[in-house]
Amino acid sequence: MSNLKIAVMPGDGIGTEVMDAALNVLSVLQNRFGFRLDLEDHQGGADLYRRTGTALTDESFEAARRADAILFGAMGLPDVRYPDGTEIAPHLEMRRAFHLYAGVRPVRSLPNTPSILADPRSRDIDLVIIRESTEGLFYSRGKGTIEDDSVARETLVITRDTSERLFDFSFRLAERRRERRGREGRVTCVDKSNVFVAMAFFRKIFDERSKGFAGVRADHAYVDAAALDMIRKPWEFDILVMENMFGDILSDLGGGLVGGMGLAPCAEIGDEHALFQPAHGSAPDIVGQGKANPTAMLLSMAMMLDWLGNRHAMPSLCEAAEALDRAVDVAYAEKIKPFEFGGSDGTREIARAVWESIA
Ligand code: ATP
Repeated sequence: MSNLKIAVMPGDGIGTEVMDAALNVLSVLQNRFGFRLDLEDHQGGADLYRRTGTALTDESFEAARRADAILFGAMGLPDVRYPDGTEIAPHLEMRRAFHLYAGVRPVRSLPNTPSILADPRSRDIDLVIIRESTEGLFYSRGKGTIEDDSVARETLVITRDTSERLFDFSFRLAERRRERRGREGRVTCVDKSNVFVAMAFFRKIFDERSKGFAGVRADHAYVDAAALDMIRKPWEFDILVMENMFGDILSDLGGGLVGGMGLAPCAEIGDEHALFQPAHGSAPDIVGQGKANPTAMLLSMAMMLDWLGNRHAMPSLCEAAEALDRAVDVAYAEKIKPFEFGGSDGTREIARAVWESIA
């Protein structure tokens, strides 16, 4: 036993299906790489809310706080809402309460998956979007005002403290990717500093922090130019770091570049806590049919293993993470074609192909 506790929250709809698949793959990895995580299962989500009036109990919330990492499926159902009409999304509450400032969205082409770009270099897309997730324009969530039905206001907030952490996190990630990929590390600050003083402040802090990471190239792009280049030449990017609202938009653009919802992993990382989940929702339209693609969940779990291994100096976890990433590539290259892309492989077949590919 590693004594590392994982709060496992499968949630609603296909969240439970992709989580089952991930835990099966995890047990193969544990045996192969000789580690053991202490898994604690917690119910939560829209279905629980419908049945009990609570989306996530205080006990589960506190268990998530105490855990070394949170592995999350998907929570929310279209027909279940809080009385004020908002979605059931306990992970947004955790984002705030646990100060999960770095929203990490890898965008990587997998073999044999459809690309919307005709250019063959789109096979080489391997970038990471880091979306600041606790402030920016979303800081205004729930605080906006409308005056006399004639003017509406929302306020964007950038703080030095969170920005420094965000940029340091981004540069450290670039250093790790440089080692793993054997390519120059690069971090691009995406902003609108030519228009907004808050964005110029964001960029200034980026430039200051970049000086501590001499081995990584630091550059800038205005958000409009970055959006264009993500379509024109996304294979040239490594890490793009940005304010919350810009990250919300560009991470969906990134997901769209490399295929379906079932492929996009996500991590929400702070200094003391981290939550790992697929970027997709509970997909009620395919629930119970065995068609959900567990790849995003598996890649999110790989990010969790890597983060835990790095944080707790446990190389076997980092090796397991790399092996899982590689196994996903092998499975797509040689063994599977998911329902999502017109094939006939569902949750079980994909999970099995991945665990059989773990070297
Ligand atoms: P949310 O608002 O909860 O993020 P959403 O309404 O944006 O959710 P999803 O639940 O992610 O949407 O589903 C969007 C579409 O993508 C649906 O057609 C769904 O079937 C499909 N989809 C989502 N996840 C997967 C998956 N893992 N495998 C296959 N298809 C998926």
